[in-house]
Amino acid sequence: MTNKLIYFIGNWKMFGDFSSIKIINKLNKFYSKFKKIHYRNKIILCVPYTLIHFFKEKNKSKHIYFGAQNCHQHQTNGPFTGSISASMIKKVGAQYVILGHSENRSSGDTNHKIRDKIKSALNEKLRIIFCIGETFKERKEKKTISVLRKQIKGSIDKKYNLNKIIIAYEPVWSIGTGNVPQKNELRKIFIFIKREIKKTFKIKSFPIVIYGGSVNAKNISMFSSISEIDGFLIGGASQSSKKFIDIIKNYYK
Ligand code: PEP
Repeated sequence: MTNKLIYFIGNWKMFGDFSSIKIINKLNKFYSKFKKIHYRNKIILCVPYTLIHFFKEKNKSKHIYFGAQNCHQHQTNGPFTGSISASMIKKVGAQYVILGHSENRSSGDTNHKIRDKIKSALNEKLRIIFCIGETFKERKEKKTISVLRKQIKGSIDKKYNLNKIIIAYEPVWSIGTGNVPQKNELRKIFIFIKREIKKTFKIKSFPIVIYGGSVNAKNISMFSSISEIDGFLIGGASQSSKKFIDIIKNYYK
């Protein structure tokens, strides 16, 4: 077991409505019972835009933070039909935003566009959950390291404050599939990401790097044995309070 701060970040994707406040209430109940783990972790729920303000208002505890799942690269108002800016999500109460998720990369988010989104979000004093990860084909062609390097260098500018950016390593082939990397392979990738960012951006300490892709209550013990992992981005399983709570409980077993 570790004493360092572990992030449990839920990515609700296109899920939830006002009645989903019951999930937040159950998480709060769990948290009030398991006081001994409070100081060791941070729960952040990245929910649809439509729910951020409502959850912020209704949520009774300080243990859960809220975030959005994307934003437009243009920081404030503009002629971008259907888009939401970093300034808008900040105003409704988001403190975090996921950027570079593979589901958004596959619908047009390039490394360059993600860099602009990160800039806008940082200007709004949001913290970023920046997703990187290789596809199945890239992995098969042994391109994982070069893909990750390109994603990192293509979207992080030397001027960005790395303390405000959480890196989420999410192999695309693992998202929603039930397939997860082997322990040794994953460890090596985490070490690579941490060293690469520290060296490239000349920062004093290693960045926060979390894992995402088919995390569940069963496989969490494998992940918890990798000390380089600072937390998790959890998709499907975060849409159920029981599954999410079981992941947290089992992490500390
Ligand atoms: C995600 O979408 O970020 C994710 C990790 O999904 P899942 O946990 O469902 O694989």
